Amino acid sequence: MPVHARKSYDAIVIGGGHNGLTAAAYLARAGLSTLVLERREIVGGCCVTEEIAAGCRASTTSYIASMLRPEVISDLRLADHGLRMVPCDPAIQVAFPDGRVVPWWAERDRAVAEFRKHSPADAETFVRVDDQLKKLARYLQPFFLEPPPEISANSVNGWSDLFRVGKRFRSISSQEICQLLSFLTGSLGEFLDRHYASETIKTLFLANNVYGKHGGPYQPGTAIGLLFHLLGGGEHGLQGFYGHVMGGMGAISEALATAGRKLGAEIRTSSPVGQIESRNGRVLGVALEDGTEICAPLVLSNADPKRTFLNLLPPRELPHEFVHAVRGIKMAGPCAKVNLVLSEEPHFTGTPASHTALERTFYTLVPSLEFAERCYDISKFGEIPEELWVDCVVASNADDSLAPPGTHIMTCFVQYVPYHLRTGTWDEKRDLLGERVIRKIAEHAPKVPSSVLARQVLTPLDLERTYGLTEGNIFHGDLTLEQMFFMRPVPGWSQYRTPLEGLYLCGAGAHPGGGVTGAPGHNAAKQVLRDWKRGRFKRSAA
Ligand SMILES: Cc1cc2nc3c(=O)[nH]c(=O)nc-3n(C[C@H](O)[C@H](O)[C@H](O)COP(=O)(O)OP(=O)(O)OC[C@H]3O[C@@H](n4cnc5c(N)ncnc54)[C@H](O)[C@@H]3O)c2cc1C
Repeated sequence: MPVHARKSYDAIVIGGGHNGLTAAAYLARAGLSTLVLERREIVGGCCVTEEIAAGCRASTTSYIASMLRPEVISDLRLADHGLRMVPCDPAIQVAFPDGRVVPWWAERDRAVAEFRKHSPADAETFVRVDDQLKKLARYLQPFFLEPPPEISANSVNGWSDLFRVGKRFRSISSQEICQLLSFLTGSLGEFLDRHYASETIKTLFLANNVYGKHGGPYQPGTAIGLLFHLLGGGEHGLQGFYGHVMGGMGAISEALATAGRKLGAEIRTSSPVGQIESRNGRVLGVALEDGTEICAPLVLSNADPKRTFLNLLPPRELPHEFVHAVRGIKMAGPCAKVNLVLSEEPHFTGTPASHTALERTFYTLVPSLEFAERCYDISKFGEIPEELWVDCVVASNADDSLAPPGTHIMTCFVQYVPYHLRTGTWDEKRDLLGERVIRKIAEHAPKVPSSVLARQVLTPLDLERTYGLTEGNIFHGDLTLEQMFFMRPVPGWSQYRTPLEGLYLCGAGAHPGGGVTGAPGHNAAKQVLRDWKRGRFKRSAA
């Protein structure tokens, strides 16, 4: 190997997204010399706070912490390293075209009282269904922090995995198994139509459940979001927790990085990895884009599966069927983000005067299931919908340290825009997207267009270029049934290991998938440590 600046570590983590940082902290805690190499100048991947205008900071990509695993928060003592979350209350709030603003309060009795105003029958149904959903979500919860089962019934591991899964369900009833299956395979729209009558209440559920999904609410598999959002989150593991992170989402990544450094991990930014080095089916280390080579018997990739296996490794290093399966992982958008600095607080028509600043933070602009389905249909054929679904968070109302007094930060997540445009390029259409987002917001908050001081538009192409998300996919691969659990990232390789001895996947492309959870990072590190303790790898010489 030609060498300039060379050193050995026990483990190298490619990518300092929040999962890479989580994995590194656990490895360092176990005593492995660990190096994180991040291509950008900051850590966090798509869990960051960035300056979008002088003195104005925003959670440029992810914006709400709902599923960060409580175990990761406590194991790595993130609160001691500055992490503070304030529950979103309302958890969801929809601004309707007729001028109503309808909150879904975090506290259940308050939510039921609100639902009763729209449909007393639906309010009763909500209590019953919410209990059922929470119970089903509790069955799924343990799977978040362990590897999916190996599905080979021919191996001892396969049998012991099946036993492990079986044990988790020993108290489940046959009725609950059927319910679980229908959530895994059914559509959110059909579920809501079956249980609820009020379009308003159905829209509140919609606003809560389809984010980042490549599919309209009537697409099979979309009902699973109902369970995912009821997994315990936040410091206290509350089911259905939604949190505003003080200092923006980057505070999570900063806390993880601080924890990792204190435990002995080294983190280098502006260090893009160009290649994973291997010989005879075994990892040797990595080469940075500038040619620097660094050795390690263990390499964990936080980059998405396509980037890891198709860009960082020559195809000859991997079995043909594996490469073929990776090529087939479905990505393609379907989201964008527009971040705004405003000269005054946006006032959304219909907001009760009694609402506190925190209660004036969250506004989802989506009028109905039918609207959402049509929006997806337009985007799936490569067009930017004229009428967009936009999720607005006036982050400065939850945390006034983000911008100078009087100035406001509003982040706007756009659900359903294509990565592959039918005509033109995203560089040509970036401004058009920004204008359509502002136009949609103006229908509800008319003064916003004249108060925009700065606007950052992140198209799916920008998400790919800047944040390294292949095809702009925010979850490193769609969260559809055929790409989940023991099928993630591809069938046969769901336990974080890869066909290359010593190479592991530790990001959202691995089980349990995307979102700011820390779970793939935690699980991958535990798998690495199990293999390390079995003596499969030699400690680095340096
Ligand atoms: C616009 C948007 C909105 C979202 N909203 C939410 C939300 O509100 N709540 C939520 O829970 N989730 C949300 N998500 C999803 C969530 O942010 C991601 O699924 C999650 O952060 C992925 O974390 P990760 O650590 O696995 O990967 P990433 O954050 O993608 O990190 C991977 C890291 O690897 C680095 N990297 C890649 N290649 C290399 C290389 N060759 N060399 C060195 N480094 C490399 C990248 O630069 C990046 O830092 C959102 C995502 C986006 C984009």
